[in-house]
Amino acid sequence: MLYKRSSQLFKEAQNYIPGGVNSPVRAFSAVGGTPIFMKEAKGAYLYDEDGRKYIDYINSWGPQILGHAYPPVIEAVIDKTKKGTSFGAPTEIETQIAELAVNMVPNIDQIRMVNSGTEACMSAVRLARGYTSRDKIIKFAGCYHGHSDSFLIQAGSGAVTFGTPNSPGVTKGTAKDTLLATYNDLSSVENLLNANKEEVACVIIEPVAGNMGCIPPTREFLQGLKDLCAKHDTLLIFDEVMTGFRLALGGAQEAYEVDADIVTFGKVIGGGLPVGAFAARKEIMDYLAPNGPVYQAGTLSGNPLAMAAGLAMLSALHQDPGVYQRLSEKTTYLRRGIAEVLEQQNVTYQLNQKGSMMSLHFTDTPVTDFASAVKGNNESFKKYFHGMLAEGVYLPPSAFETWFITDALTYQDIDKTIEATAKVAKTL
Ligand SMILES: *Cc1c(COP(=O)(O)O)cnc(C)c1O
Repeated sequence: MLYKRSSQLFKEAQNYIPGGVNSPVRAFSAVGGTPIFMKEAKGAYLYDEDGRKYIDYINSWGPQILGHAYPPVIEAVIDKTKKGTSFGAPTEIETQIAELAVNMVPNIDQIRMVNSGTEACMSAVRLARGYTSRDKIIKFAGCYHGHSDSFLIQAGSGAVTFGTPNSPGVTKGTAKDTLLATYNDLSSVENLLNANKEEVACVIIEPVAGNMGCIPPTREFLQGLKDLCAKHDTLLIFDEVMTGFRLALGGAQEAYEVDADIVTFGKVIGGGLPVGAFAARKEIMDYLAPNGPVYQAGTLSGNPLAMAAGLAMLSALHQDPGVYQRLSEKTTYLRRGIAEVLEQQNVTYQLNQKGSMMSLHFTDTPVTDFASAVKGNNESFKKYFHGMLAEGVYLPPSAFETWFITDALTYQDIDKTIEATAKVAKTL
């Protein structure tokens, strides 16, 4: 049995942890089979508890953009740990990472650190509501902004994977303030704004959607959103938890040359430790406590170990902006290679890519929004996923997730991935 120890560990975990996991998509429910327990990781590779090695296309769902156990991050964390792990009082490193982030990201003056992407988005929406004195928000079907109540309405990622895009436990009162629009469809937003005049605090969007698979926006769509928001005095929130520091030093705002009013971060900004953040121009951030009336806080926010990891990560990216070109080239090479072998086997597919984000949908219609994403053939995806796993390639265990390419990946690794696809494609 290939996954003997993983199976045992999963059984034990299920006794004490709901579903055996601390985040649902890890349970492999969408693809079937037993989740693989990991023991360690280095560079582009994961090593499981049964001693198998995998080329990793999740990279902790984004943070490990420079590879696992990236030495500057590891050293920074070890160094900081020796000086104490948390004080509950301000530290200099918080200003250092804030200054660097503000310099890297367009159109923000100040940034507040939190502990997850969920917290960042939840807080950003509260800030938008406080700033505008309005209650309603617009989100897009299939976009995921973490698991706080307002966002679990037609959410993407694990929420759609498990067939509960609308979660029980979210009250009707909360749900009625979340309005749903269609990704890449400006008129759906315009209609909602017109029907709810002077009621919509913000439009929140993944500027490149990554939680219904990867779905890039058109630039006109993002710019159109910006213009519509300006017209209606509604704030535009870019949820850059996935795209921040991944698409470019300045994230999607830089990549698409569209400014948002509030930006949220997570994943890369923590270098693999639990960090989220939200940022905006000073006049908006001034609404936050202690300067302003909108309350937001965190016992472990700005934690020194997390800040050390994040600062080491952002510094490494800042000092090597060529990394984005390299990542993009590697991903393009991977996408073209996979496309070629799927075509040879007459497999129906769509490959979407933006920078180092990519996804494969088994459908013949272009995937541009939630409705087209769910048309994908999940049986083909399951087969492909398990076939690749057996070949030593670890893909996201759901068709509604993005592949995250790391700079640690070599062209040899990518060739292996393409060869594995060629082999597995024959079984589809
Ligand atoms: C991952 C993700 C979140 C949630 O972040 P967590 O750290 O998992 O809470 C929010 N928005 C987007 C776009 C994400 O990809």
